[in-house]
Amino acid sequence: MSGPVDPDVSDAGPDPGEPGAGGARDFLRDEIRRDVESGLDGGRVQTRFPPEPNGYLHIGHAKAICLDFGLAEEFGGSCNLRFDDTNPDAEDTEYVEAIIEDLAWLGFTSARPPLFASDYFGQLAEWAESLIERGLAYVDEQDGETISAQRGGFGRPGIESPHRDRPVGESLELFGRMRRGELADGSCVLRARIDMQSDVMQLRDPVMYRIRHATHHRTGDEWVVYPTYDWAHGQSDAIEGVTHSLCTLEFDSHRPLYDWFLDQLPLPHGRPRQREFARLELTHTVTSKRRLATLVADGVVDGWDDPRLPTLRGLRRRGYPPAAIREFCDFIGVARTNSRHEIELLESFVRRELNATAQRRMVVLRPLLLTITNWPVDDEGSPLVVDVEVPNNPEDPGDGTRSVPCSGRLWIEAEDFMAEPPPRYHRLTPGREVRLRGAFYVTCTGFREEAGRVVEVECTYDPATRGGSAPDGRKVKSTIHWVSVEHAVPVQVALYERLFSAEVPGEATGDPLDDLNPDSRELLDHCRAEPEVAATEPGQVLQFERLGYFAHDPRIPGLFHRTVGLRDEWANIQKRRG
Ligand code: ATP
Ligand code: MG
Repeated sequence: MSGPVDPDVSDAGPDPGEPGAGGARDFLRDEIRRDVESGLDGGRVQTRFPPEPNGYLHIGHAKAICLDFGLAEEFGGSCNLRFDDTNPDAEDTEYVEAIIEDLAWLGFTSARPPLFASDYFGQLAEWAESLIERGLAYVDEQDGETISAQRGGFGRPGIESPHRDRPVGESLELFGRMRRGELADGSCVLRARIDMQSDVMQLRDPVMYRIRHATHHRTGDEWVVYPTYDWAHGQSDAIEGVTHSLCTLEFDSHRPLYDWFLDQLPLPHGRPRQREFARLELTHTVTSKRRLATLVADGVVDGWDDPRLPTLRGLRRRGYPPAAIREFCDFIGVARTNSRHEIELLESFVRRELNATAQRRMVVLRPLLLTITNWPVDDEGSPLVVDVEVPNNPEDPGDGTRSVPCSGRLWIEAEDFMAEPPPRYHRLTPGREVRLRGAFYVTCTGFREEAGRVVEVECTYDPATRGGSAPDGRKVKSTIHWVSVEHAVPVQVALYERLFSAEVPGEATGDPLDDLNPDSRELLDHCRAEPEVAATEPGQVLQFERLGYFAHDPRIPGLFHRTVGLRDEWANIQKRRG
C-alpha cells in the first residue's frame, strides 16, 4: 500500500458513479415536497442542525449537516445551527467554537447566528410549570434506579410512582425548590404524567428535569435544573419555527413523545415534525463521539485532529476537500435502514476531487542514490544542471508548468531498483532502461552495496531523450520519479493505514479497541522533495507522483500527511462484487 505504483495505473480511478440524491427523490424529499405543495406552514421549510457541544464533529455529522442544510436550500428555506446544550457536565465552549468552525469549513453557514437550547431554559421552565398546573407533570422523589425499574418493558407493565398523584401545589412547590437549588442532585426529578402502561416506553412518564449543581458553559450557575433531551428538543424546534426536525433513526421511538409534548403547548409558529434517517457508518471507522473521545483520551491518536480520525478536523488535516465530503454525502443519499458504507467509496470521491485540483510534485519517500556516470560537467568540473519543464497538473493544462532541476546525482525510490528482480518487474535493474519522469532515459550499468545493502545505483543517460521521449521511438516499460540530490528539500511524510483493521470495529468482541491496527501510522523522516515543494502552503494538498495525495500540515512546515493513495480501491471492490 505504501510503495509507488506502476505508472500504468491510472491516477484518476474510474468514476465512482453519478451522484444519486442531488435533486433526486427519497422519502424525505418526497415528504417535504408534499408539505410544501399542500401549503403546510405556508409552504415554509426550516430545518436545524442540533449538535451537542460535547465533542467534535465527525463524518456522520457531515451527513446530517448536508441533509439539514441541503434540504432547506433545495426548498428555498433556511437552516440554523442550534447547540443542544442541556448537559453541563460534558459540554464546553471549546466544542462550540470548533463546531462553528468545522461547519464553515464544510461549506455551510447558519441562517441565523448560532442558537442555543440554553437560551430557552426560561421558556422551558415556564412551560413545565404549566404542565404541572394541568396535572401533566409531577415531581418524583424516587431515585433513578427505582424509576427506571418501574418503567417495565415490552409486555411488562409499568408501575406508577407513589408521587404520581400528589397535589399540583406540592409538585409546584417542589419544582420551585429544585430550581432554587435547595435540593440535592438526584434527590428528585420532574416527570411528565402520561401513561405508565403505554406500549411506547418513552411515554411511561419520562423525566423532564434533573437536578445538577454544575456550572454550565453559557448559563454559568444560573440553573440547577437541566431539561432532558426529550423535553428540550421539540420545544426548541417549536420556539425557533422549525418545520422539519431531521434526526437519526435511534430517535424514532421518541417521536410519540416529541409529539405529545407539542400537543400540550401553545406553539408560537406552528408545529415542527420529527423525521428520522439512517446514521452514516463507515467500514474500519467508529463514528461515535464517545468512542472518539476515548481514542483521544487514551492517547491512541494524537488529538481530535489526528489525520486518522473521521472527525472533520482530522479529515481536514489529512487533506480531504470539503467538496468531496459533500459529494459523498449526496451520493449515499438518505435511507431509512441503517447501513455501513465502504470507506473506499469516500476515498474515491476524495481522489476524484484531488485528481482535478492537486498539483503534481516529485518526492522520494525512501531515497536511494542514483549516479549518472556520463553526466556532463562544466569548465570547472561541476556537474551541469539541466532544468526540465513538467506540467503542474496534466488534468488541467491551465495550471501551467514548472521547471525541475536535474543533475548527475539523483534520489530515486529504493523500491524502484532491484538487483535481482522477480518476473514482471519493469523498473531499474542492471541492463534495464527506464524513463526519469519528464527528464531522460537512463540505463542501469551497475550498483554498489555496503553491508549487503544497495547504497548506490549507477546509470548512463541518453542526452537525446530530454523531456522523456526517444527520437528513435524506442519505448521503456517504466517511468520513475526522482529528485536532484543537490537541490533536494528534506520533508517528513506520514503514511496512514486503517485505524481499525476490522471492517466493523468491535464486531467480534464488542470493543472496537480490540480491532485497533497497531501500524496505522508510519513516519518517514528522510524523504526528499523537488525544490518547489518548499513553497507549499499550509494545508495545501499535492499529488506526489506515483505515490498518492499528500496534505501539508497546517502547523508543522515540511510535514505531509498521505490523504489517499492513487489506486481506486472502490473500483476493485465493485469488480469483486461483479
Ligand atoms: P454521537 O453518537 O457521535 O455522540 P450524537 O448523535 O450524540 O452523536 P449530536 O451532537 O447529538 O451527536 O448530533 C447532532 C446531529 O447529528 C443529530 O441530529 C444526530 O442525529 C446527527 N448525527 C450524529 N451522528 C450521526 C451519524 N453517524 N450519521 C448521521 N447523522 C448523525
Ligand atoms: Mg446526541
